[in-house]
Amino acid sequence: MTKDQKIIVCGAGGFIGGHLAADLLKQGYTNLRCIDIKPTSEWYQLHPQAENVVADLKELSACRAAVKGGTKLFNLAADMGGMGFIENNKALCMLSVLINTHLLMAAKEEGSFERFFYASSACVYNADKQTHEDVTALKESDAYPAMPEDGYGWEKLFSERMCRHFREDYGLATRFVRFHNVYGPHGTWDGGREKAPAAVCRKVITAKLSGKHTIEIWGDGHQTRSFMYITDCLKGIQTITDSDIIEPLNLGSSELVSINQLVDIVEKIADIKLDRQYNLKAPKGVNGRNSDNTRIQELLHWEPNTRLRDGMEKTYRWIYDEIMTKKSGK
Ligand code: NAD
Repeated sequence: MTKDQKIIVCGAGGFIGGHLAADLLKQGYTNLRCIDIKPTSEWYQLHPQAENVVADLKELSACRAAVKGGTKLFNLAADMGGMGFIENNKALCMLSVLINTHLLMAAKEEGSFERFFYASSACVYNADKQTHEDVTALKESDAYPAMPEDGYGWEKLFSERMCRHFREDYGLATRFVRFHNVYGPHGTWDGGREKAPAAVCRKVITAKLSGKHTIEIWGDGHQTRSFMYITDCLKGIQTITDSDIIEPLNLGSSELVSINQLVDIVEKIADIKLDRQYNLKAPKGVNGRNSDNTRIQELLHWEPNTRLRDGMEKTYRWIYDEIMTKKSGK
């Protein structure tokens, strides 16, 4: 594939889409169309070298315009957020099915696509397998029998299957992966859609700056997760998109931590110790979830491997600067 092929990045105003567009441009791709529903002033990263389009990809007509002349498409557009958002906005999360449906239909009609990538999630996994903190890592086969996260997870599982059937029935070369919590700079860190790593950074920074040395933690802090740094995510997306791998694959770190341990890490970065207050009524998601990386290792001889401590250091510094900029009213 040549560097001037037309690549479409959907959700480019968001966290992962913004980083992906930056990475593609850095690699020398010259013909990028970036699309998001938000006004460009709200995009986390705006790349003037790309064609930047504001459009609602829930609309079929917008998807038809978006895919014109494209050879590769990355669908990272979705109405989503952390646990606080997805537990309280199930219908909204499910409406993202329109984005993927209409993009698939438009890409099939256009007929020029060599690859169509869809971002699925670990939220597709059967909830019954995630009831304990000392979780055994989730294997790709653990999505069935289906009992995903209500709302958001059902949308992801359905959209995965639609990608599969567009490939089998219409020959559209779809690929998808199941992300496990992705974090890093240039993402959501306040406003209600932020996820645990960014929320913990913000809370620790705020406590440090205000001198009020307490932190509210959602749940009892024993719930476990793994977190993947953005650069690993970008490598995984592109390697799998360009590969012949059509089976569902985890894309996540296997470094399991409890939320308490995540707070320990951020406290060390900030060089502070806070009084922890546990909010047992707040949304906390499943009790335990980790990524089983056996299959990705077999297929790629690689797995996401940025140490949480290293990725969190960079994320913390970026959020700190954001907070300081906001405070100074710039
Ligand atoms: P994000 O919210 O930062 O980015 C998503 C972008 O999609 C936003 O900029 C939003 O404005 C845009 N969007 C929403 N509705 C749209 C519409 N109708 N038309 C056009 N654009 C629209 O999220 P992210 O973290 O970058 O996630 C990207 C993808 O990866 C999503 O599909 C998400 O479900 C999936 N995912 C992310 C994580 C994670 O930890 N970040 C984990 C699992 C799966």
